[in-house]
Amino acid sequence: MNPVNSRPQPRLLLLAMSGVRVCDEELLRLGLTLPGFVERSRVIASLPSLGLLTLAARTPGSWETVYREYDEMPEDAARRIAEEEFTVVAISSLTARIEEAYRLADDLRALRVLVIMGGLHVSAMPEEAAGHADIVVKGEGEMVWGEIIAGIEHQDWRAFYDASKVAGDAHFGFPQPTPRYDLLDINRYNRIPLQTTRGCPLHCEFCAASRTISPWRRKSIAQIGREMDAILALWPRPFVELADDNTFVDKKWSRELACLLAAHPVRWFTESDISLADDRELLRLLAKSGCAQVLIGLESAAQEAMRGLDTRDWKSARHASYRERVRVIQDHGISVNGCFVLGFDTDGPDIFQRTLDFIDMLDLAEVQITLLTAFPGTSLRRRLESEGRLLPEAGWRHHTLFDVTFQPSRMTVDALRSGFRELMSGVYSAERVIRRGAIFKQCLKNRAHE
Ligand code: SF4
Repeated sequence: MNPVNSRPQPRLLLLAMSGVRVCDEELLRLGLTLPGFVERSRVIASLPSLGLLTLAARTPGSWETVYREYDEMPEDAARRIAEEEFTVVAISSLTARIEEAYRLADDLRALRVLVIMGGLHVSAMPEEAAGHADIVVKGEGEMVWGEIIAGIEHQDWRAFYDASKVAGDAHFGFPQPTPRYDLLDINRYNRIPLQTTRGCPLHCEFCAASRTISPWRRKSIAQIGREMDAILALWPRPFVELADDNTFVDKKWSRELACLLAAHPVRWFTESDISLADDRELLRLLAKSGCAQVLIGLESAAQEAMRGLDTRDWKSARHASYRERVRVIQDHGISVNGCFVLGFDTDGPDIFQRTLDFIDMLDLAEVQITLLTAFPGTSLRRRLESEGRLLPEAGWRHHTLFDVTFQPSRMTVDALRSGFRELMSGVYSAERVIRRGAIFKQCLKNRAHE
């Protein structure tokens, strides 16, 4: 293969495969009638891939770089891409769409297009991906991207690049490029991602994000300021979604972050753990900074489900104080989107009603429920695999967070599936959506008094 020299200017296609489709047809039909659920799913699916935009920023100007997303992949996608004479296609995909991504990669390679694959799934399953890509990247792609591109230019690339070996501490130990937001069609997006931290020190058993790509790190406030400026140059009053796993781990740094964001005309959303409630000064700063909502993994209505979930039982120790902590955060004008997971080993058939009652008791402004899912690279997957509990029929495309992929401990697969559907109907019933809307409005009023 002679990918680079066949064209005067090499062309790079950065391809994000977003927009996961739930496999459970009944849940899918139900979901379409549940406005709160559909709204959040759309938000997640419509975010551009920050990882690929960051790679674009590391690509030399001598390359022509195009960013594209496939929500639904066209039948003849590979042929079309090859006809556009892309030299290299770099694909990033979620686990639930990785089989589609592999098919596309196989077709592209058959048409003599060089394929690079990376991202969360590929970083956890590099050997699997190596069967479909010319180059596999494990970990933080931008650390090795310059080397990959130089290798391609000199037709001397390796099949495997491991960025996870690069030493780093809690700070990014290397200069961060500002993502190429300018490659996006600005009218297509109503939320723009910006990453301020990576990873999470809590290491929950089911969490793939906490360490697969990188250990916990935070960016410098100066770098975040540069990225904010790049966003504002394109969207004058953006809604920014921090693409972080757990933003406020370092409270002193978080206060500086809140001050930085307060100096810009943005509204924003992020993910945090419940310790946010313990820092009133940070909460006051967040209220002034345009922070609209924080998503918090509350995980379960049952405290027993949370024992052993993270390495220090940190979450379990705070379970009894959830109501008070949610109240403190929302009293400061920051609405809480509480996330719950169903299917823990201690969950029996009563967990669904318990969850509904618990959610009602917490007075949350928004709620998200998902099924426990053993993503590749997680301790949970290793455990369920060793216990022989992964369902053979549940391939990667079932790893949507809304499909059952393993044998539950205290109920049947069908009981978990139908109990989850029923819970979904209760959580997203019109009456509860209206009630949460009123709580959200109250949060806005509370913020005005901060
Ligand atoms: S707190 Fe959240 S981000 Fe951190 S390890 Fe647990 S699930 Fe992952």
